[in-house]
Amino acid sequence: MEILWLAHKVVEQMILEAEQKAPLETGGLLAGYFSKNDKETVVTDIIGPGPMAVHKMTTYKPDYSFHRDEIGQIYDNSNGEISYLGDWHTHPTQSAYLSWTDREALRNIVRYQNNFLDAPVMLIWGGVNSKGDPEWIPRAWRTRSLKGKMFWRRWDYAPMEVRLFK
Ligand SMILES: [Zn+2]
Repeated sequence: MEILWLAHKVVEQMILEAEQKAPLETGGLLAGYFSKNDKETVVTDIIGPGPMAVHKMTTYKPDYSFHRDEIGQIYDNSNGEISYLGDWHTHPTQSAYLSWTDREALRNIVRYQNNFLDAPVMLIWGGVNSKGDPEWIPRAWRTRSLKGKMFWRRWDYAPMEVRLFK
């Protein structure tokens, strides 16, 4: 299983944002780098939803221009070492499963050529306890387009093991 490493700092930032918006969804972008063998993904920075994002019970619409500016700044400030890895979002009232919309979002990241990202990550914070409150359990997937003999693309959504680091 591939590993998704989350810096302690970014976990705190995401949970804080999740708590502030619950029971509405929120999310943003993941930034960092992939290991040389491409089996490990390291998240060093995250970007929040952005001021113009729209938050609803089971969807959230990101502030795309905010995201473009922020990720561009992170990339430039790190001399290209820290770049866009994929997206994160919350499921405040459901478990952290990969919905059809989430799969489509992943495919769109690959299709949007300006992302230069052919295997993006999706991190979801979800889960509900017996009282109905969010538990914020992280689950993650990485998607790749499988090149087959077919005219259409097939897609793989591989679960990742989430680990934290200081
Ligand atoms: Zn989702």
